[in-house]
Amino acid sequence: MKPATLSLDAVLDEPLRFAEVLSVPASSFDREPLLSITPLELSGEVARVEGGYALSGQLVYGGELECSRCLSAYPFREDEAFSLLLYPRRPAAGEEIELAPEELDAVFYDEPVIALSPIAEERVQMALPMKPLCRPDCKGLCVECGKDLNLGPCGCAHESVDPRWEALRGLKEEALKGLKEKA
Ligand SMILES: [Zn+2]
Ligand SMILES: [Zn+2]
Repeated sequence: MKPATLSLDAVLDEPLRFAEVLSVPASSFDREPLLSITPLELSGEVARVEGGYALSGQLVYGGELECSRCLSAYPFREDEAFSLLLYPRRPAAGEEIELAPEELDAVFYDEPVIALSPIAEERVQMALPMKPLCRPDCKGLCVECGKDLNLGPCGCAHESVDPRWEALRGLKEEALKGLKEKA
């Protein structure tokens, strides 16, 4: 399959609209909790601006993530609007590029042909949570019997763990791991 690209030379006075469906395997995101991902639906338009181009896009996709607390799979859906500025790495002679305002991402290109997959994939990388939760108050699994506490209490006698202690324990584990890696 030919990679989806945008030819900037085709952008004339009017903005150029585009819409692509990009199939990217979940494994290419290198995120363990990402169990599956739908094709990425990317649409938007590109317009000429001073010294380059402005891309405004809409990215829609979904899939399944594994909850970091209860380890169950849950569906998610993402729908985000974003903007990018596209500039030639070497501006044409005599042209000066004003640096993009910080809130806008800039992409520099060598050839005026922009591959869309890397742009969409980067958005996905940024949007995927590091510690996904099936719901904000997920109760997780019982540390003793392994029961999913979202389904109701288990028979074990344990004091309810204060989430702040949980967080501290996580930090301690991280620190220990760091020490081991250094050793
Ligand atoms: Zn959960
Ligand atoms: Zn239990």
